[in-house]
Amino acid sequence: MSMQPANDGEKEILSPKTIATLIELNGIDFEMAHAKRALERRPKDLAARIRQVENQEKVVKIAKDTITAAQKRIDKKTMEIEGLAQDVLKLEGQLFSLKDNTEFNAMKSQIASRKKLDDDLQTEVLELFDAIDSLKEDHQKTIDKLDELKSNAKEAEAKVAEELKEQSAKVEEMAGRRVECLDALPATIRATYDVAFARRGQGTALVIDQICKGCDTQITLQTLSRVMAKKLVPCRNCQRILVLGE
Ligand SMILES: [Zn+2]
Repeated sequence: MSMQPANDGEKEILSPKTIATLIELNGIDFEMAHAKRALERRPKDLAARIRQVENQEKVVKIAKDTITAAQKRIDKKTMEIEGLAQDVLKLEGQLFSLKDNTEFNAMKSQIASRKKLDDDLQTEVLELFDAIDSLKEDHQKTIDKLDELKSNAKEAEAKVAEELKEQSAKVEEMAGRRVECLDALPATIRATYDVAFARRGQGTALVIDQICKGCDTQITLQTLSRVMAKKLVPCRNCQRILVLGE
């Protein structure tokens, strides 16, 4: 284990070419991190849209099943109504073959109660028909919403595919340029850069208004003067190599 003294970098003076390379690396690392995040995030966004479509498909099915159930209740009640009508006809046919008034009245009241039941059923059927109309409207709305989600997902799919292609090409191109930049760095600077890059995903940071833009921390005036003297100075807080920014 060789611990480098803190002021080791003092000996190293950064040439204008090295400074330009470090600034370029700063931009490349930033862009590459951004592109890599997009490569990870976009497929997740798309998966979320596809889940929305699947959920809406379930909603459409439930709406359709509700209509089918209401239709079945109508069919059942319609059969009951037909049964009652036949009953009433049969009872009415027997009315005049009865022996006395008591029987006649009892029969009349049986007929009346069936007619009352028939009325109630007719009302229920009418209400069910009304309900089905509004259920059909709801069903159509769920279908419209599904169509919208599907077309959004399809659009997003094409867009994501295009963006991924673009970002992959960008990452590949930048990776090539990054290797060239790294090869151009003197060994000591390269080693310091590699340490910070391994920890932070970025090996350099710009200093603007006495702030390290890598970690948004204020640097001391001494550090600033060393940066201005073009010495190799890693940020005390984030270890990135400090380069004077605008
Ligand atoms: Zn920093």
